[in-house]
Amino acid sequence: MSYLLQALADRAGEFVRLRRDIHRHPELAFEEHRTAALVADKLEGWGYAVERGIGGTGVVGTLVRGQGTRRLGLRADMDALPISEASGAEWTSRRPGVMHACGHDGHTAMLLAAARHLAEHGRFDGTLHLIFQPAEEGGGGALRMMEDGLFDRFPCDAVFAMHNMPGVPQGRLVLREGPAMASSDYATVTLTGIGGHGAMPHRAADPVVAAASVVMALQSVVSRNVDPLQAAVVTVGALHAGRANNVIPASATLELSVRALDREVRGLLERRIRALVVAQAESFGVTATIDWRAGYSVLVNTPAETAFAREVALELLGPERVTLQGPPLTGSEDFAFMLERVPGSYLLIGNGDGGDGRAASACMVHNPGYDFNDDNVAIGSAYWVLLAERFLCEDAGASTRDGRSPEQEGAGQLSDAGSCHLP
Ligand SMILES: [Zn+2]
Ligand SMILES: [Zn+2]
Repeated sequence: MSYLLQALADRAGEFVRLRRDIHRHPELAFEEHRTAALVADKLEGWGYAVERGIGGTGVVGTLVRGQGTRRLGLRADMDALPISEASGAEWTSRRPGVMHACGHDGHTAMLLAAARHLAEHGRFDGTLHLIFQPAEEGGGGALRMMEDGLFDRFPCDAVFAMHNMPGVPQGRLVLREGPAMASSDYATVTLTGIGGHGAMPHRAADPVVAAASVVMALQSVVSRNVDPLQAAVVTVGALHAGRANNVIPASATLELSVRALDREVRGLLERRIRALVVAQAESFGVTATIDWRAGYSVLVNTPAETAFAREVALELLGPERVTLQGPPLTGSEDFAFMLERVPGSYLLIGNGDGGDGRAASACMVHNPGYDFNDDNVAIGSAYWVLLAERFLCEDAGASTRDGRSPEQEGAGQLSDAGSCHLP
C-alpha cells in the first residue's frame, strides 16, 4: 500500500495548511460555524452532496458511486476546548482561551484529505457518508446529530472514527474489539437534615455525619459489588456542607463521577449508589435526593467491524505498526452513541512519543502545550481511503464508474479492486 500512502503524502501539504488554519481559528462546542462552513464548501467543491446544520453545526457529505447497496459512515469531530494555548506553534490559536487541544482540527483535516482523494480517484461501489460532528467535548454532538435524524437520513451499515493519541509512536494504529472507552455519569446527592446549635446535636439531624458516612460507604461499591476483573470508578469530587464550627447545617451536597467499561457494570453502579445513599441517609435520620445525569455511554467496538478495520490497518502499514488489541481507556467519547445504533469501530492513531523531538505531539491531549502531529494527515487519510475502498468494494473485474476498466484507470495509483474483505 505504499503507493496509496505516497499519493496521500503528495497531497498532504494542502491539508496540513488547512489543519493549521482550523487550528488558528478554534471554535467551542456547537459554535463551529466557520469550521463547518469550510468543511461543507470543500466537500461541495469536490462533488459531494452536502447537508449542513445537522444537530446544530454538523455536516454530512455524501458520495454515491455505482450500483452498490452498501453504505459506510466515517466520522470526524470539529470542536475545540476552553484552554489557553501554550504550544508555541507558529499556527497558535488566535482566539484567547480557546484551542484545539484534542486534535479535532487534525481529525477534520484527515477526513477532508480522504474525501478529496476518494472523489477524484476513489474506486468504490456504494454510498459514502462523511460525518463531521460538533461538540464531542462533553456536548454530546453525536447524540444531537442522531436526534436530528442522522442515521435515518443517512443510513449506514457501519461507522468508523479515529482519534489521535499522544505517547503512542507517530502513525501507529491501535485497535480494540469490545469496550474501549468508559461511560461517564454524574450524580449530585443532596442530604437534608435539621440544622441546629453545634452544642446541642441531639436537637438536630446532622447531614455532615451522614455525608461522611456516605463517602465511606461508596468506597465499597467498587471493592465489594463490582466483579474484581471489571474496571469501575466512583469518585466523590466535591463535598459541601456548613460554614461555621458551632452550627449544624441543614443540608450537605456531594458531587460524584461514575465510570465503567461495561454496560452492565454501569447499571450496577447506579443501582448500588442509589441504594447505599438512601439507606445511609435514613440511618442518620436525614433524607437523600439524587440527581443522576447520564453522560456518555460505554464505547463498544463490534467484533466483525473491528476485525475488518484491523485488516485494513495491516494492509496499509504492516504488523509492525499496528496494535491489534490495545488497552481500554477510562476517558469517554460520544462516538459511543453512534456505536449503540450502528456497528463499527473506533481506533487510535499515535500522535508521537517525543522520540522525534516533537514535544507538543507527545504532550497529552487537553494540555495547553499539545499539538496535532501533521505527519498523520497522510497516514490517517490513506487509512480512510483504503477502508472506504475495501468496505464499498467493487466486484473484481467489473468496469468502473465511467466505463473504463481498472487497468485504464492507472493501476499504480489505485488499490486492487479485487481484494474485498467485508466485515
Ligand atoms: Zn478531548
Ligand atoms: Zn478528542
